[in-house]
Amino acid sequence: MRRFLVAGNWKMNTNRASGQELAAALAVDSPAAEDGVEVLVCPPYPYLTTISDKVAGSGVQVGAQDVYFEASGAFTGEVAVDMLRDVGCDYVIIGHSERRHVMGETDETINRKVKAAIAGGLKVILCVGELLSDREGGHTESVLDAQMTGGLADISEQDGKDLVIAYEPVWAIGTGVTASPEQAESAHEHLRNWIANRYNSTFSDNVRILYGGSVKPDNAETLMGQTNVDGALVGGASLKPDLFVPIIDAARKLATA
Ligand code: PEP
Repeated sequence: MRRFLVAGNWKMNTNRASGQELAAALAVDSPAAEDGVEVLVCPPYPYLTTISDKVAGSGVQVGAQDVYFEASGAFTGEVAVDMLRDVGCDYVIIGHSERRHVMGETDETINRKVKAAIAGGLKVILCVGELLSDREGGHTESVLDAQMTGGLADISEQDGKDLVIAYEPVWAIGTGVTASPEQAESAHEHLRNWIANRYNSTFSDNVRILYGGSVKPDNAETLMGQTNVDGALVGGASLKPDLFVPIIDAARKLATA
């Protein structure tokens, strides 16, 4: 039985005070003994310690939006896995479309980050997703296959025991355009089959695949209600408790249905 995961990617938003306020509201909504839904927030690096402190003792977990693959040294501006663990991170997002398409990250770099994060004890949310031109050209599945093959190169079943995949069609991120439930389910089913072929069906049955791309309270339940959708990676709507909490509540409703 896969447990829903609802994750908020704050991107380069909030400041110390607004982040604390947001985290405090979520901590109240998600006490430690919370039901079948895992809640995660991924603030900007400078606020990780503050937000970890703020949600301590609640059911809200903290993750980072990226990580570097080297352990330490002369890598100006980068942040290592151990540093993230040290400030209370359980998860890290790797391969977000903005890292791929704005910062130019390749599957090879992403794979090095995935390996380093897993080796250092962080749970990885590996993001994959096609551009609009890929979809219109009928290349969605081959793009997803290439990103999965590249991102998970040399990752064993044991390495991947806490792996989470986020399917995020690039054309749906921050655009207000959401994949239809059918489009999401079709991509998620494809990804689960890919995992079953690469590993095995027991493993693929356990891997959570989140949907991301303009998830809002009014579409969350339908999207997460699809057979192969195990939660959501939420950008814009994760910055406001009155939008994010209803998305978590939609997962709670589905978890207890
Ligand atoms: C994201 O940043 O991962 C995302 C899905 O953003 P939004 O929900 O704003 O589309």
